[in-house]
Formats: sequence, C-alpha cells, structure tokens
Amino acid sequence: MSKPHRGRALWKMPSRGRGTCPVCSAARIKLLYTKNKTDGGQIQVCKRCAKASSDRIDAVN
Ligand SMILES: [Zn+2]
Repeated sequence: MSKPHRGRALWKMPSRGRGTCPVCSAARIKLLYTKNKTDGGQIQVCKRCAKASSDRIDAVN
C-alpha cells in the first residue's frame, strides 16, 4: 500500500482530493477520510473530522 493521502495519489482523485467537508463545512480542504454512517452510507471528511463522533457524521445528509 502506498500513501493514499499524500502526494501524487491525490491528483488522481476528483478535484484533487479537495472539497468542502460535509461535517465542518471547511472549504477547499482535503477530504481524505472515509467515514461510515450508521445508515450504511459513506462520506469523505477532512482530517479534523476524521475523529469526529458518529453523531456528527450522521447529522450529514
Ligand atoms: Zn471537516
């Protein structure tokens, strides 16, 4: 496994791995962490929200 959150790997991602975090609404931040919602969906969140509680994740649509 190479480093999935660093370097050139990001350039292959949509918008180069950046976007607006659905949890904290930070814009143009790198969304590198996949969080599983309790309803079965998955969302991409930023580093700050990678450790957010599941309550905050589930508050996202
Ligand atoms: Zn965030």
